[in-house]
Amino acid sequence: MIDSSLKEIAAALRAKKVSAVELATESLARIDAGNGRINAFVTVDREGALAAARAADARLAAGTAAPLTGIPMAHKDVFCTEGVLTTCGSKMLANFVSPYDAHVVSLLKQAGAVMVGKTNMDEFAMGSSNENSHFGPTRNPWNTDKVPGGSSGGSAAAVAARMVPIATGTDTGGSIRQPAALCGITGIKPTYGVVSRYGMIAYASSLDQGGAFGYSAEDCALLLSGMAGHDPRDSTSLERETEDYSRNLNRPLAGLRIGLPTEFFAAGMSDDVRAAVDAAIAEYRRLGATTVEVSLPNARLAIPAYYVIAPAEASSNLSRFDGVRYGHRAAEYTDLNDMYCKSRAQGFGGEVQRRILVGTYVLSHGYYDAYYIKAQKLRRLIAQDFAAAFEQCDVIAGPVSPTVAFGIGEKSDDPVQMYLSDIYTIAVNLAGLPGLAHPAGFGAGGLPVGLQLIGNYFGEARLLNVAHQFQQATDWHTRRPAN
Ligand code: GLN
Repeated sequence: MIDSSLKEIAAALRAKKVSAVELATESLARIDAGNGRINAFVTVDREGALAAARAADARLAAGTAAPLTGIPMAHKDVFCTEGVLTTCGSKMLANFVSPYDAHVVSLLKQAGAVMVGKTNMDEFAMGSSNENSHFGPTRNPWNTDKVPGGSSGGSAAAVAARMVPIATGTDTGGSIRQPAALCGITGIKPTYGVVSRYGMIAYASSLDQGGAFGYSAEDCALLLSGMAGHDPRDSTSLERETEDYSRNLNRPLAGLRIGLPTEFFAAGMSDDVRAAVDAAIAEYRRLGATTVEVSLPNARLAIPAYYVIAPAEASSNLSRFDGVRYGHRAAEYTDLNDMYCKSRAQGFGGEVQRRILVGTYVLSHGYYDAYYIKAQKLRRLIAQDFAAAFEQCDVIAGPVSPTVAFGIGEKSDDPVQMYLSDIYTIAVNLAGLPGLAHPAGFGAGGLPVGLQLIGNYFGEARLLNVAHQFQQATDWHTRRPAN
């Protein structure tokens, strides 16, 4: 049953063909069978899941169920969960049990969704391959020698392996879209400010945004509807009416204008990705869309701008991990300063330390203007490029990742190569725009290829509509890895 669409699962729950407890049990059994191989989950909350499932069954019986009541799901381990470990993929937080729930977690609890566990991730959401996790790499269910993408690789792999039908993720520079693409599922990162960051452990606050993974755009729309909405506890949460992201799904695509950025199609995409992306765009034309070439001349500066701004914010955000109130503390030290130094040196992994160093450097007196201010100016130029492009089109389409999933270990010694794998996703975060990735075929080694759709601000429902129409006409999103 876990392999079915949320619509089918919800109907089966209401028709009493399956219970929430049976669904949770099925999810836990799939995790038991596959997690040793995939390492998608850091924590499995068996008792919590069964208790939540029993409560969901009671609600279903009482007729007070919400759309997500009784649906098994997973949270990326960046979201604080009361009473359950929240590690953020780090040794620093390996023993951290949060005293409260993230806003997203409490909304989904209230909706009756059944959390079965917390998913593996790159430490503090820094990475594109999940290899930066303190708990070992997550493996791609399509080929366990390959990475699942990152940083939300655990969530993407859990959904792709049919351990849960939906999961949350966060996307600071591509961390929902890229793992969705590499694992052959659908993922959406909404407009910055649509999903509350309260209780979502901060990496780069002006870029971080929570979002949804599912088998399809239709399922992502249901999950996003359950997790978005204004939250006064996050000062950047937007005061907007809550939306039903499923409302436009059935709108036909006739007349849709799809912008194809010259710069995305110029060079850099591998041939197999290119072929799948071109075929998906041809399918969109068959569905009634027209395409127009647009230009994002500053998009090539997105990676350098991001690797100044994100580490700058990270260096500030991560200064709270000092070994005093929570997190790892060194066993032996001479004085307070030595305790800070040793705790942080032991608690943070190599990539996190690299970014703290870079971030501290670019913010330091004398370099601030040369790097940080300059990067902020680039950020504005990138946002202006998108604004100009959206005068000519309704959505922008392109690749998600230049290649299909790469091998575990292939790029882990070369941070610049790793950073470059986010070339198509990062500009979207710098501009604060919504982005979606959906399955678009298969490339080298039978590995999934994704297509990226970028919307204008608050265009989430439109993106989900566009992807849903594609998924009504194609079956890439129904393909799943063997066993
Ligand atoms: N891969 C990018 C990074 O390493 C983006 C990560 C993310 O979106 N959290 O920072």
